[in-house]
Amino acid sequence: MLEQAVRGVAGDRAAQVRAGEDDVAVLVLEVGGLDRQARDALEQAVREAALEAGAREVRVAMTAEKRARVIIAVGSGKGGVGKSTLAANLAVAMARLGRKVGLVDADIYGPSQPRLMATEGRRPEAEGQKLIPVPSPFGVPMLSMGHLIKAGQAVAWRGPMLGKALEQLIDAHWGDAELLVVDLPPGTGDVQLTMLSKYKPVGAVIVSTPQDLALMDAARAIGLFEQGQVPIIGIVENMAGYICPHCGEASDPFGMGGAETTAMAMGLPFLGRVPFDLAIRRESDAGHPPAAGDGAPAEAFISIARAVLAWLDTPR
Ligand code: ADP
Repeated sequence: MLEQAVRGVAGDRAAQVRAGEDDVAVLVLEVGGLDRQARDALEQAVREAALEAGAREVRVAMTAEKRARVIIAVGSGKGGVGKSTLAANLAVAMARLGRKVGLVDADIYGPSQPRLMATEGRRPEAEGQKLIPVPSPFGVPMLSMGHLIKAGQAVAWRGPMLGKALEQLIDAHWGDAELLVVDLPPGTGDVQLTMLSKYKPVGAVIVSTPQDLALMDAARAIGLFEQGQVPIIGIVENMAGYICPHCGEASDPFGMGGAETTAMAMGLPFLGRVPFDLAIRRESDAGHPPAAGDGAPAEAFISIARAVLAWLDTPR
């Protein structure tokens, strides 16, 4: 109620709305670009709205900077290469590294993030015209088409409807999230185009298995981003090197190093390699992103997250 009332007058300038103890409302407003008079008027309006909504006392902080929420797209040329797994674990790893991250599952045809992030069956609430992201147990709020449709229900929308759906997911009340990791559907269709034209990502992470065919597909996905003038942050090689759970011996069911070679040949950064590990599959299916735990898979995801953050933090 408090949030609704405050957002009713402050809209997206309400960066944080919190009901503290003893009915104290704590509000953070983004006032970048407003002059003194407009700022005072906004403060006055939110104070009144909060008091009317039942707050006993209202504390208002202002930040000058309009928060620029940055979108990182995770894409692949084809399905089944571990794109969703990487997107989920990248978001969790970045949150572990202290960033405020949200996760958007734009894989509208096969939304798998609710299962990966243990939020299956949850329904996001709406406030005003916008959705409120579903909190996950890993410090990453998220929204997925899977939260909006019934389990097993097929989605057969096209063009404009898809664009609308994507809009709902991205244009939500993301609060203080500074980064949005967006899990794109595989390939180069409508959703990807809407995404590139409407919500331009700051960069894209491309996931590929080491197989040649997957790499050729990856090259197509890279082409799409480059056409849309979205820089490629780098390539991640997934399912590289199989560690036998019985004898510990490493083998390479899909070969290894193919993505790194491709990255080098294309002059793109190589962000790291995630081993083929049955524990990754098992934990992911059970709603425990490996990046939230310990061990080699967590380290692999955290190292990739560091590489992505280093890219983001480098002035361009
Ligand atoms: P995509 O989003 O590209 O379709 P997913 O992330 O859904 O792919 O992964 C496909 C399947 O492969 C899932 O069952 C997932 O748990 C599994 N998987 C992904 N990465 C790995 C890995 N490194 N080791 C073992 N299994 C993996």
